[in-house]
Amino acid sequence: MKIVVLGAGVVGTATAYFLAEDGHEVTVLDRQPGPGLETSFANGAQISACHAKPWAAPHMPAQAFLWMFQPDAPLLFKPWRWDPPLWSWGLKFLRNCTDARAKTNMARTLRVALYSRDVLKTLRQRTNIQYDQITEGILHIYRTASEFANGRATATQLAAFGLPQNVLTADECVRLEPALAHAAKNDLAGGLLSPEDESGDALRFTEELAKLAVARGAIFRQNVTIRSIEAANGRVTRILTDKGDEEAEVFVLSLGSYSPHFARDLGLRLPVYPAKGYSITVDIEKPAAAPTISITDETKFMVFSRLGNKMRVAGTAELAGWNAALDPSRVEPLLRNAKDLFPAVSNYTNVHPWCGLRPATPDSVPILGATRFANLFLNTGHGTLGWTMACGSARIIADLIAGRRPEIDIEGLGMERF
Ligand SMILES: Cc1cc2nc3c(=O)[nH]c(=O)nc-3n(C[C@H](O)[C@H](O)[C@H](O)COP(=O)(O)OP(=O)(O)OC[C@H]3O[C@@H](n4cnc5c(N)ncnc54)[C@H](O)[C@@H]3O)c2cc1C
Repeated sequence: MKIVVLGAGVVGTATAYFLAEDGHEVTVLDRQPGPGLETSFANGAQISACHAKPWAAPHMPAQAFLWMFQPDAPLLFKPWRWDPPLWSWGLKFLRNCTDARAKTNMARTLRVALYSRDVLKTLRQRTNIQYDQITEGILHIYRTASEFANGRATATQLAAFGLPQNVLTADECVRLEPALAHAAKNDLAGGLLSPEDESGDALRFTEELAKLAVARGAIFRQNVTIRSIEAANGRVTRILTDKGDEEAEVFVLSLGSYSPHFARDLGLRLPVYPAKGYSITVDIEKPAAAPTISITDETKFMVFSRLGNKMRVAGTAELAGWNAALDPSRVEPLLRNAKDLFPAVSNYTNVHPWCGLRPATPDSVPILGATRFANLFLNTGHGTLGWTMACGSARIIADLIAGRRPEIDIEGLGMERF
């Protein structure tokens, strides 16, 4: 079957791989010169099922209000801007800020994230794909006793849904990750270890997986900008691009934050809004002073991942439209915290800043599956966890297209929930 995948981020590329493995004739369209060059380029590098807690939660409306007046807040939100897509997304977000919805959304996300981690592990065993992966878990650190207590409460919920975490004292954190010794002197209340989680370079993975997909017959058409999608009689008929039209029997929409712009051509209203995030990547000059295990600083809302001889620091979220411009003032908190936690890693003169637009849904659950167009499937809206959920989501879409029953329950993952 001829299948066109729209988008060559980590999600579209993984989709293309599993479809090519099934023997389909796959073409991927992307406007960048290579795969993985937009939001999948320099993310936090974590395969973190442990981050399945949704943003929308009972405490969030009050918290977001306070953050509005804090320029370096981890989540920046300016509802007074003229931005109807944000208002519509924000209302749906508010509806998800109940205890019951937060639990349901956590369970749905965790279902995909845990499955995806398994699919990634199997893929790695079968293909020996290399992407600076580290499989020693993710360590969450807390600076204050009350935050640590909140973290333990979340851990109890995650454990009930199948993700166990180990509670560690500050000393145990340092024994596990000696690079935290400096932090322990200042403020470290304790930590939680998610032993089965991982880290690795999403860009390198995407590039390597694209090669494996090509080896299975997939074609990646890069530097091709999609203009619109056409449909007739309940089926998508063709994709119009700046380099000619593309026809196929089946289409998969994986355009990250840009998915709603093209779904709109078909009358589909996808509640995906860009949540801009930042990262810095620094060269490691003193390897012993750099963390090996991937770390989430739960107090500062930042993650640290080691990628070979580099350290990636990522965080912050800004709901400010489809604006991919880099604001140096948002990089500053990342740099400050990196110097504070790991002062000896680098002299921090050679720092590569980056920002990307997370395709966020109001309930933090991705949008996967069929649509009212018989030959159009959605694989988008992965928000903060697109790297974590890419392989599992792709496998689910390949199963649906093949007419196989997906290996996990897909209840609550489709767009019908909106
Ligand atoms: C700072 C930051 C840290 C993060 N950390 C993590 C993490 O630690 N773990 C994790 O799991 N996730 C993390 N994420 C989230 C993750 O990076 C995203 O969810 C994921 O990259 C989304 O992948 P995607 O393929 O859906 O989107 P993208 O990678 O953006 O891919 C979409 C593709 O569509 C193409 N495209 C768009 N419009 C057009 C058009 N008109 N024509 C042709 N092509 C088009 C783009 O070129 C792009 O390649 C982080 C994100 C950020 C910003």
